[in-house]
Amino acid sequence: MHITRRDFTKQASLIALGSLACAHLTKANTSYTVRKGDTLGHIAQRHGVSTAKLRHANSLSSDLIGVGQKLKIPAQDGATTAVTSARNPYLVQAGDTLGRIALTHGISVSQLKRANNLSSDVIHIGQTLYTPAIVSTEDLLSHVRAATSKIAVRRQHWQRIIVHHSAIKYGNAKKYDAAHRRRGMQNGLAYHFLIGNGIDSGDGEIEIGTRWTKQLLGGHLKSYQLNLSAIGICLVGNFEQTQPSKKQLAAFTQLMDWLQGDVLKKNTKFAGHRELKGEQTICPGKHFPLAAMHARYD
Ligand SMILES: [Zn+2]
Repeated sequence: MHITRRDFTKQASLIALGSLACAHLTKANTSYTVRKGDTLGHIAQRHGVSTAKLRHANSLSSDLIGVGQKLKIPAQDGATTAVTSARNPYLVQAGDTLGRIALTHGISVSQLKRANNLSSDVIHIGQTLYTPAIVSTEDLLSHVRAATSKIAVRRQHWQRIIVHHSAIKYGNAKKYDAAHRRRGMQNGLAYHFLIGNGIDSGDGEIEIGTRWTKQLLGGHLKSYQLNLSAIGICLVGNFEQTQPSKKQLAAFTQLMDWLQGDVLKKNTKFAGHRELKGEQTICPGKHFPLAAMHARYD
């Protein structure tokens, strides 16, 4: 989502603009330049590695880092991702590399190779690769189920579920709600659900918007017609630059599974914001695993 940017604090805006300015860099997954407000812990978390591993990779003797400092980001620790035997097919496209596919599916290259019994990094256009599903055994949804049990969901009304990124690394439901109200949205927070990244709300924490509890139309799309029938789920972060965290993806899939399978009880269309005609956006960012989610929800 892009409409919120100018409403944030000057610092956040500057950081967001900085992020956008370097969004085209493809090396974002192997090196990282420290920005104002960063801590080693946050950087480690955002890249799916431990603080100790990050410290070690950069020969740091303490957690002190400075703005502008370049950090090497080590490969993700495979052991931290829970992977099931469930597999989703992915068709290799022109320009794909194992690294890119792994990144956009939220897994490591070694996990991807293991899932496909590959002994080298050579892949071919048209080849079918299987991407292991990301799961979390932790129930991140209990409060959402509880809140929803108290309302009458307008089941016939909702036809689509649209995923967004917030395009900035900061923020939570309260902050975005205030920003959206300042933008003239009387119903506040434009999304029905917001999934935190561990900075201003919990990592993988699902915040429920009043548009869900009151079953109101969304404010997350340019098209009014689409807003009437589309549930909006937003993940906090700029996924042009970083990946969603594993817990954010776990929360997202739990929420989607439940919405599609239990709540709406019909085939609800799924899409990334940029896939809708006329929306003119890169949302939810190139690092959001849209292909994997389509394999799961189409
Ligand atoms: Zn969006």
